[in-house]
Amino acid sequence: MTLTVDDLHVSYGGAVRALRGISLTVPDGGIVAVLGSNGAGKSTLLRAISGTLRRLGGRVDQGSITFDDQPLGRDPANIVRRGIAHVPEGRRIFGRLTVDENLRAGGLGNRDRAAKATARERINDLFPVLAERRTQRGALLSGGEQQMLAIGRALMAAPKLLLLDEPSLGLAPKIIGQIGEIVTEINRQGTAVLLIEQNATMALRVASEAHVLDVGKVSLSGAADDLAGNDDVRRLYLGHASERPTVGEPKTLSRWSE
Ligand code: ATP
Repeated sequence: MTLTVDDLHVSYGGAVRALRGISLTVPDGGIVAVLGSNGAGKSTLLRAISGTLRRLGGRVDQGSITFDDQPLGRDPANIVRRGIAHVPEGRRIFGRLTVDENLRAGGLGNRDRAAKATARERINDLFPVLAERRTQRGALLSGGEQQMLAIGRALMAAPKLLLLDEPSLGLAPKIIGQIGEIVTEINRQGTAVLLIEQNATMALRVASEAHVLDVGKVSLSGAADDLAGNDDVRRLYLGHASERPTVGEPKTLSRWSE
């Protein structure tokens, strides 16, 4: 099931032109990263795909989004049913609800009980810490655990494609490594991922392809390993131009436990 975004233009309030002709593809089972600085339009892209733009005053002015060669439409609940789940930025979990209740909320739109039970098992395997804290309120979890819960909640919909908006935001390097490992594992289990990140090091490690967004346009695209070696990307997003980053090395899980 391929996601295809073609010449997408999005504006807010009829004034702010947040996306100005974005085209990209997320192949079945792939991981594609979108990098870019603040305000480049990364979150807007995910909102346009998940149908959550309108409630924020945004609108698709031009272009198309298809999934499995069918137009995606704009109804968020239907888009989840089509197999696309969105984890928005800022780890928006229900702080007053327990871990269990948060996960159940994620499964509300999924009427397939067997699929929900399978999703639950998958989440327990991916995030043992959540299984240990199932009765704890979301607000009491650490930042990393809250991010895991936000991802787990999206997985309750048994998505074919996961949209992840800056999962590393505000987390310590070690936890970012764990999140990267989890994204790799989720993908290995068959779920495609569109990963939005400011942390280019993590994103280029886990993704196979990447695009750089610059004020609503794609300024660079390519294989993640190639972008990791690109001087502009290294200067702007990896924080150094001289030292060769480790992002081009094999993407194995063991890298993350170092
Ligand atoms: P960040 O990393 O800071 O979240 P981003 O790359 O995700 O940045 P967006 O949040 O998509 O960027 O914003 C793209 C542009 O759209 C920015 O100019 C931003 O100010 C504007 N924008 C985003 N959301 C809204 C909104 N709800 N109403 C009006 N303008 C918005």
